[in-house]
Amino acid sequence: MKVIEELKKRSGELTDLHHIMALLQWDQEVMMPSSGAAERADQMATLSGITHRKEVDPALGELLEKAAENPAASTIDRALVRVMRRSYDQNTKLPEEFVEALTRLTSEALHVWIGARKEADFGRFRPYLEKIVEMSRQQADYLGYAHEPYDSLLDLYEEGLTAIRVQEMFAGLKGPLSDLVKTAMDKGPELVIDRDLDQTLQVRFAEMVLKKIGYDFSRGRQDVSTHPFSTTLGHHDRRVTNRYSPRSIEFIFSAMHEGGHGMYEQGIAAALGHSALDCGVSLGIHESQSRLWENIIGRGLPFWRHFYPELQQLFPEHLAGLSVEDFVRAVNVVKPGPIRVEADEVTYNLHVMIRFELERALMEGAMTVAELPEAWNAMYRKYLGVTVDSDANGVLQDIHWAHGSFGYFPTYTIGNLAAAQIWNTFTRQVPDHEAIIEAGNLAAVRKWLRENIYRHGSVYPPEELIVKVTGEPLSPHYFVEYLRARQGC
Ligand code: ZN
Repeated sequence: MKVIEELKKRSGELTDLHHIMALLQWDQEVMMPSSGAAERADQMATLSGITHRKEVDPALGELLEKAAENPAASTIDRALVRVMRRSYDQNTKLPEEFVEALTRLTSEALHVWIGARKEADFGRFRPYLEKIVEMSRQQADYLGYAHEPYDSLLDLYEEGLTAIRVQEMFAGLKGPLSDLVKTAMDKGPELVIDRDLDQTLQVRFAEMVLKKIGYDFSRGRQDVSTHPFSTTLGHHDRRVTNRYSPRSIEFIFSAMHEGGHGMYEQGIAAALGHSALDCGVSLGIHESQSRLWENIIGRGLPFWRHFYPELQQLFPEHLAGLSVEDFVRAVNVVKPGPIRVEADEVTYNLHVMIRFELERALMEGAMTVAELPEAWNAMYRKYLGVTVDSDANGVLQDIHWAHGSFGYFPTYTIGNLAAAQIWNTFTRQVPDHEAIIEAGNLAAVRKWLRENIYRHGSVYPPEELIVKVTGEPLSPHYFVEYLRARQGC
């Protein structure tokens, strides 16, 4: 068998195993009775072991060596080799004992972090975080890097990303975002839901929106889970979940967010199916596709000119007195606060920036874990004008560090920048986009995204994809421009 055929066969098997794992996880979040938890953990551990052995198989390494000596003829085949090489390296460069120790440490740390956050007691979490930082540095050494250890951790989540590159992008964001916070703060009406929203009606509206934007229910489904997520169980099975609370319309935006993830994956070309290329290329690009629908489209006036009458009709006693313009202003209010996951679009990136600077300082050894809470609070005062009242609402708020996921946060901002830059290209190519959206023809937007982004799956590395679609590397410029227009500044 030819090398590339052998690689495709192995990639197909690994894809099957990953999708079976995704099914077990989906079931655990959506369907499984609570008594099933212990056995499910065993099942997943068994399956992980089988998958891991296949992923680190030396024969796979040899095949990849051979493929490097004779580069494949087609773009897709070369991309498959690139993506398989990348995960083979990530899976084999870390010694098994190290991976086991890190898994043990983070699962203990997670437990401790939950308690520490509840009690707002950083001291309890501190020794664990110190070990996690130390092991993350070790991890960076195993994985290798050109400039600084943090680069290799960033690259785990966003292929090719470096600390210098993030720093560059943040430098262009910092000033304009701080100015926007000052001018846009607390402007506009508030949306107060003071009576319960019927959950059946919420689900119905979310499904209607998903159908309208082009999420394909014959190749997906929407269920309820504690935290909304999207997952892929097969080329023709890309699912989303949502959650509903009685006093919030957040379900609309999370339906659009997860729907954006789901549609990205549903739009991948059939030719890439059953291989490592059959998924979004990176966390940042994935997040750009969810946030484009959730924020750029989903919080825009043209979108609501189309959908608001229907929403008003479903919830007349809540929204009858509120005009569509006021509704849109209300869902775009800028309000600095201490909690990242509750942040608006403008301040969100300042939260990310703070984490980036702290992570980088920790990785460089320029800061100790003991100094972290104070540095955190000082940066919140400086960047957001916010006083953090307790570590629970400060340095202990995110799960990421307990997980050992250093380098993850910047992908959120990459997603915002990429969404705005891609959207700018779309609006130049489709000048009557506002009328199209106002008429409810969201399928036209999805079609453009499918043609330009979705269908490529993981064929092009993230930054290459951005250049291919927008004609230039990722820049903070378009995001700032978009925010200014949205906030009327
Ligand atoms: Zn997302």
